[in-house]
Amino acid sequence: MLISEIFIPTLKESPAEAVAMSHKLMIRSGMIRKLSSGLYTYFPIGLRIFRKVENIIREEMNKAGAQEFNPSILTPGELWQKTGRLETFGPVLIQIKDHSGHLNVLGPTHEEVFTEIVRIEISSYKQLPVNFYQIKTKIRDEIRPRYGVMRCREFTMKDAYSFDIDEKGLEETYKKMRQAYKNIFKRCGLNTIIVEEDMGAMGGTASEEFMVESEIGEATLVLCKKCGYAANLERAESLDKIESKKETPEALKEIDTPNQKTIEELTNFLKSSPDKFIKTIVYMADEKPVVVLIRGDLEINEIKLQNALKAVNLELADDVTIKKITKANVGFVGPVGLKNIPIYADHSIKTMSNAVTGANKNDKHIINVDLDRDFKVDEFIDIRTAKEDDLCIKCKSGLIFKKGIEVGHVFKLGYKYTKSMNVKFLDKDNKEKHPIMGCYGIGVDRTIAAVIEQSNDKDGIIWPITVAPFDVVMIVLTRDKKKYQDTTDSLYKGLNEKYEVLMDNREASPGFKFKDADLIGIPVKIILSDKNLAQDKIEVKMRKSGETMLVDKGKILPEIEKIIKEEYKKYEV
Ligand SMILES: [Zn+2]
Repeated sequence: MLISEIFIPTLKESPAEAVAMSHKLMIRSGMIRKLSSGLYTYFPIGLRIFRKVENIIREEMNKAGAQEFNPSILTPGELWQKTGRLETFGPVLIQIKDHSGHLNVLGPTHEEVFTEIVRIEISSYKQLPVNFYQIKTKIRDEIRPRYGVMRCREFTMKDAYSFDIDEKGLEETYKKMRQAYKNIFKRCGLNTIIVEEDMGAMGGTASEEFMVESEIGEATLVLCKKCGYAANLERAESLDKIESKKETPEALKEIDTPNQKTIEELTNFLKSSPDKFIKTIVYMADEKPVVVLIRGDLEINEIKLQNALKAVNLELADDVTIKKITKANVGFVGPVGLKNIPIYADHSIKTMSNAVTGANKNDKHIINVDLDRDFKVDEFIDIRTAKEDDLCIKCKSGLIFKKGIEVGHVFKLGYKYTKSMNVKFLDKDNKEKHPIMGCYGIGVDRTIAAVIEQSNDKDGIIWPITVAPFDVVMIVLTRDKKKYQDTTDSLYKGLNEKYEVLMDNREASPGFKFKDADLIGIPVKIILSDKNLAQDKIEVKMRKSGETMLVDKGKILPEIEKIIKEEYKKYEV
């Protein structure tokens, strides 16, 4: 393609609001433009990249046995009422009344729609399993759209929904999808970290996220570089760096601590350190009060706690409930003397000795508290939030924290939707059963942005050849146009038959052309200059390595073929 045939409005500067590198470079390279907050238009060069990512996803999904659908984006409100998500989705759900007053929802995801399709179309085990997907526009009214296409209001997702006869079937489908995702990201040249999210307590479901390390990531990843342990901070397990030893217990003593409620206030008041305190929190787990203990320098991870307690709802108890149970106000609560209430403790409590805790009397604490002697714990559970100086649970090496962006998600969904929408099939044994679901999402726009976040330099984007808008850019710098016209034309023609070629033959300075080529990030540059052509040579330069070579004019086509083949090979699965 001649550069005059494609609209590529490159910019020297990026808009001030763009903070993410991918956002800046997508604007500057003419890939996208903003229409309004969280709304973007893909321009032709951006769309070429978009289509490549989309096709890689499509090929791998099809290869894994999934089938593509094209459902509507506008969806009936009743479906969302049935699953309760009309309420739980909150304000990001765009709801529209049509001319007859019916409520419609602009789909932010399509569990309801695909479950409805299966409810109507599938009635026998003979029709299962199925895995249906779409690659389509999704709409979410994000409160704070940012980072360009990374978090916007209209975006494209590949979302797949699998329906299996039983858990064993789901496990197989899940494994296939997981492998398909690995293939997709490898082919896109993206290094992902798979973060496990074991949600065992929530009904035997499990999920994994495909994360990309990035400074603008919203998730915190806890990683062990030694053994490969990776988890979201929300679920990460970890070990204390220093193993504390039990001291000889001293006599229990009540002390006055007027108005000293927080650990910080108390450490100052008692001239002690936070790890000497037993933090005591009262929670309501499914409307029943429980007492939870953790060492004072640690934070309770409420997701871990909720899973450990197998609670559907978990919230902090209110002041009235706390007073009723402990006879004291918040800040003066402790485990000593508490009766008729289950006490759960983090493992960090086990090795504490001569600890400080609330006395269950206002303005009083007790010191020299000893586990077993002074209070009993019903169950020890892991509920600590991992810290950066903690050690890996698997190999005891140091952990590191990194920010990450989620690009894909595989999720064993279970029966949530098939039960709430009453989807049933007749099994072999003539019994009606609910199919078990899995769902699998990849953000197309996010994947593109993540590739750029991972692969760029001061000059611009460095595309992996598999998703690059063109394989090759021909930069024509010859002044003596007539003399080298035949060479240029025949090279362009020869390349064009096999590859996607962009020919920059504009009347512009060499610097200008090089800047654009680097900004857009095309993997292979072929440079035609008077100087080299006079010696029957053509220069080839690689965008990523900066490596240059002078190739005999007569050997240029086979040489380029070899280079391009090698490039594609890097991303093969
Ligand atoms: Zn480790």
